[in-house]
Amino acid sequence: MQYPSIQLYIGGEWRKTTDGMQILNPADESVIGTVPVATRSDLEAALSAAADGFRIWSRISPARRADIIRKAASLMRERIEEIAYSITLEHGKTIAQARLEVVRGCEFFEWDAAEGQRTYGRVIPSEPGIRYLVVHQPIGPVAAFSPWNFPMSQPARKIAGALAAGCSIILKAAEETPAGAVHMARAFHDAGLPPGVFNLVFGVPSEISGYLIPQERIRLIAFTGSTVVGKRLTEMAALHMKPVLMELGGHAPVIVCDDVDPDATGIMSAVRKARNAGQVCTSPTRFYVQKPLYNAFTKAFAERAAAVTIGDGFDQSVQMGPLANHRRIDAMEMLVADAKAKGAKILTGGHRVGNRGYFFPVTVMADVPDDARVMREEPFGPIAVINPVATIDDAIEKANGLPFGLAAYAFTHSAYNADRLIDGVEAGNLSINTLEASVPETPFGGVKESGNGREGGAEGLSHYTTVKNVSHRMTMARA
Ligand code: NAD
Repeated sequence: MQYPSIQLYIGGEWRKTTDGMQILNPADESVIGTVPVATRSDLEAALSAAADGFRIWSRISPARRADIIRKAASLMRERIEEIAYSITLEHGKTIAQARLEVVRGCEFFEWDAAEGQRTYGRVIPSEPGIRYLVVHQPIGPVAAFSPWNFPMSQPARKIAGALAAGCSIILKAAEETPAGAVHMARAFHDAGLPPGVFNLVFGVPSEISGYLIPQERIRLIAFTGSTVVGKRLTEMAALHMKPVLMELGGHAPVIVCDDVDPDATGIMSAVRKARNAGQVCTSPTRFYVQKPLYNAFTKAFAERAAAVTIGDGFDQSVQMGPLANHRRIDAMEMLVADAKAKGAKILTGGHRVGNRGYFFPVTVMADVPDDARVMREEPFGPIAVINPVATIDDAIEKANGLPFGLAAYAFTHSAYNADRLIDGVEAGNLSINTLEASVPETPFGGVKESGNGREGGAEGLSHYTTVKNVSHRMTMARA
């Protein structure tokens, strides 16, 4: 198995550049490849290619578009081992999780391909002789920016939405984990996607967004990443009156009501926290547990968390790989030290493991004061905080106490409790008795500072289309 050569893909052709940034394996910090840095002329070429690609693709029937997207997804499924290998090497996640990610990415393509054939409009009844038609048309070339935590499924969301709706796309994928996007470009190339419909660039992120966002030919900005960067890009887009689709940070609360099994819920939560080493915008992080269950839940959670095996993601016995980069280790150490200094109890974890590779264990902290940074800043790593609450209303108030509102979770068997949670929790996604926050057929996205717009579900394609109202009088009035 080989890590792919990372190149730009513009107008249906691969481009090498002389400049390059190193790509590291987070399990041992060795260099596994280099990522090219797009120049201004590469970006100009990508822009022209996307404009040409849009002219062709937007005029192809949705059924034919769906065929090509499905063909590409089926090639990705055939290449699952090769793609999963690259993802584990560059990102660190376990090979089992990398395979699941490839499957999930394919499911996004397959769902959106089908949904692209259902961008129905409306006929509005009116007075005789005139008809009003509402039609949904592809919005135009899209500039998309995807992060490093899911090298395949994050960019897949954006490519799938754009292509299914009839748009072309210039994707700047994450420089630290570029291979997933390269594999997807290869699959689309082999599936016969016309040149210029999907273009892939890497480089200096602020230079690429700074160049693309103001361009008249770019009609939508789609970004997944931190709230800080999302706001910056939104500001830039607003200056040029561009719509944005923003999937930003979260700090997911989990409300554990006193009518559930504390052991089973604690164990399930610890296992979920280890997924992708906690580097997930929907990762369950702030646990608010009703007092009667607090001790049992906390014990079960901490014991299961301490048993999570960590190591190289290629080792089949490992349940959690390293963090993806050194920034995450620094952030975990800072958050733990701050919480400890403010009186939090560290039940397990809390220290980097070894000094080669970015290993950090699942870390559980209890009785964490509200002024600890970890209660407000998204850890984006394997840290969970558990605090007791007296009532469900207290829990809802605490859950809503941050500017984020992406995913939220709750455990209860009471329909009454569930109803209060559905009404009261401020989040784009609320999951009850499950820690799964998003599947291809449901809309995913945030409220408040967690972003705007939705990816997936029937709602997902709406951002990639624009609404045109046609007023059609059947006979012209004579002058
Ligand atoms: P970041 O926001 O700096 O980077 C995330 C992605 O955005 C990267 O791929 C990066 O290349 C790109 N990016 C950064 N600046 C950009 C710019 N000016 N123009 C265009 N693209 C730009 O975040 P990070 O330091 O890599 O990770 C830290 C935080 O980001 C995490 O704590 C988490 O809150 C957030 N994050 C969220 C998600 C998510 O799924 N919502 C994913 C990754 C990171």
